[in-house]
Amino acid sequence: MSLSYEMENSRAWQTYLAQINQVTPYLEEDLIPFVNTLKRPKRALIVDVPIVMDDGSIQHFEGYRVQHNLSRGPGKGGIRYHPDVELNEVMALAAWMTIKTAVLNLPYGGAKGGVRVDPRKLSPRELERLTRRFTSEISPIIGPQTDIPAPDVGTNASIMGWMMDTYSSIKGHTVTGVVTGKPVHLGGSLGRVRATGRGVFVTGLEVAKKINLSIEGSRVAIQGFGNVGSEAAYLFHKANAKVVCVQDHTGTIYSEQGLDVKQLQNHVAQHQGVAGFPEASMIDDQEFWTIEMDILIPAALEGQITAERAQNLTAKLILEGANGPTYPEAEEILLQRQISIVPDVLCNAGGVTVSYFEWVQDMASYFWTEDEINQRLDKLMMSAVEDVWSKAQEKQCSLRTAAYILACERILKARKERGIFPG
Ligand code: NAD
Repeated sequence: MSLSYEMENSRAWQTYLAQINQVTPYLEEDLIPFVNTLKRPKRALIVDVPIVMDDGSIQHFEGYRVQHNLSRGPGKGGIRYHPDVELNEVMALAAWMTIKTAVLNLPYGGAKGGVRVDPRKLSPRELERLTRRFTSEISPIIGPQTDIPAPDVGTNASIMGWMMDTYSSIKGHTVTGVVTGKPVHLGGSLGRVRATGRGVFVTGLEVAKKINLSIEGSRVAIQGFGNVGSEAAYLFHKANAKVVCVQDHTGTIYSEQGLDVKQLQNHVAQHQGVAGFPEASMIDDQEFWTIEMDILIPAALEGQITAERAQNLTAKLILEGANGPTYPEAEEILLQRQISIVPDVLCNAGGVTVSYFEWVQDMASYFWTEDEINQRLDKLMMSAVEDVWSKAQEKQCSLRTAAYILACERILKARKERGIFPG
């Protein structure tokens, strides 16, 4: 299958291209000749990953690493292990990383990688062999100065530890900065696990101030109580908001006076889901979308806010903890209804921001305290909100469009200033 064929047929990639086309009219005239650099990946590597299974047989898996754009610095983006991973999806995910790192003004480009595999079907030894062989296959194009992977769906800190060790073995010395999201004792950063949820809270707080929505006493509904949702819930609860409703894969719980989020976290740790939490009542999953709320935090899956749900939502502010939770047609309705949306490329960028801090700490071999990390994170996220908000005012557009304009301007200015080699 040729690259261009896959480009034509990829929905995610087409969605990304449509987003670029939509913001192009807003860009300064002198940047327009460079827009096409955003419409194709700089580099895409497809690798065969053969491994010896525990039963002695040999299985082949297909892996990818795509560097979408490196105009502003090394590539940054996760590694996904999932049975549906394919090249054009990885291309789109890499492109969205280009946008996200630029919105936060991190000195990175965008990249993404993955292996088409169901990691749950591998034994721990097979998973390690797969990771080490995949790392060795993509090692010519990754590195702390070129492209820095991180965890994504189906991968975790241990897998990053194996990647770092394999890359270091190839180089003959320890290279902690080749991946982020590592275990803390292997050069990982404090605060990384909670960073995305914290970023959701911080961006939410800033935008709430701008739309005159008081956090104290506000009613918050959260879909997803994992890494992102549970931390965001905790911080809103601490700020005296009422987390009235939480939905996860086990059901939807509701409490009129607000849930005790610490107790809910303990319950989920024991029971692997919110269902059965004694201090709340279970309600129908569909009711989640119609209850009285001020703030909605989708922090589970993509494609959750449909046009129909958008018609009935009572929220004044939506914080996109998940990637791509809002359909474009739903967004139109929400904007007409004057509901503010903090877009994913801004709202959930706390994780990549602390990944950046991890890389900086690894390069300096000097590590910061969790308080220092959180302070720096808050500062960068607040300044990104300010940048996006001002752009939205200037261009009279939504926060999502503003974030894309800002990112495209930053990337294309860098491209223009660097020029096109060989000139
Ligand atoms: P997680 O696996 O820790 O938690 C996912 C949560 O979603 C769980 O509570 C699960 O029960 C819930 N869920 C799953 N299926 C559901 C369903 N059908 N209905 C309702 N709830 C359901 O994942 P996470 O790390 O918290 O990530 C959540 C989202 O945030 C994903 O979209 C992810 O891509 C995005 N994101 C995460 C990070 C990060 O640093 N973890 C960074 C950026 C974006």
